[in-house]
Amino acid sequence: MSLLQTENLNKHFGGLHVTADVNFTLTPGEVHCLIGPNGAGKSTFFRLLLGEHKPSSGRILFDGEDITHLKPFQRIRKGMSVKFQVPGIFKALTAAHNLEIALQDHTAPGALQEEIDRLLAFLRLEDSRGMEAGNLSHGQKQWLEIGMAIALKPRLLLLDEPTAGMSPDETFATGEIVRALQADGVTVLAVEHDMAFVRQVADQVTVLHFGRIFAQGSIDAIVADERVAAIYLGEVHA
Ligand code: ADP
Ligand code: MG
Repeated sequence: MSLLQTENLNKHFGGLHVTADVNFTLTPGEVHCLIGPNGAGKSTFFRLLLGEHKPSSGRILFDGEDITHLKPFQRIRKGMSVKFQVPGIFKALTAAHNLEIALQDHTAPGALQEEIDRLLAFLRLEDSRGMEAGNLSHGQKQWLEIGMAIALKPRLLLLDEPTAGMSPDETFATGEIVRALQADGVTVLAVEHDMAFVRQVADQVTVLHFGRIFAQGSIDAIVADERVAAIYLGEVHA
């Protein structure tokens, strides 16, 4: 049984075929990375999964249920949660207060403080709990944002370039956070450029190219695939 599945998913923008016959399967419990050159259709596919774009044709199933026509908030209610590239935190509030806001609808009032503390520790933000979110480092802001997303206690966490702009140390720490989430039973799908991160976390890698699934497999298989190397030629990656 897959947690998330797409069946012949297509998206056209005018004459552009941006998502092309994508049959994608996400296995419960895995960390799955989605890679591909710029313009490959990663963000569009991501937005289709979230319900921010309507597919031109095809279906999306979550835990076996057809969610193709559900609105984003309805998908979130079913157990999907997302962290975007642009932080959506409240900059003038402390890190702890941000988490409190995200947690309050999902947590019994008596357990709220304990949950805030648990999340702060999990996100390596204990020492910054009283700091205004706007003053956190770039990496810490991203972790707080992950915290806002997992406060909803999702079954599936979608991450759009979680390590963009991070130092190698921050990237590695983000990988550890993702692994810890997986150990807690959360399935993760991440769009990611940083191959060190992909190697650190991914059980499975899918390569998109011109909107289609071009290759799929373990990171070792993907890195060894000369066809995959060829589509990245001319691309510069940080
Ligand atoms: P990636 O995230 O892999 O870089 P995108 O999904 O952002 O790729 O874009 C894939 C293609 O679709 C690009 O050619 C892009 O210009 C086009 N595209 C993306 N969003 C839109 C849109 N809202 N309207 C028209 N074209 C779009
Ligand atoms: Mg993109």
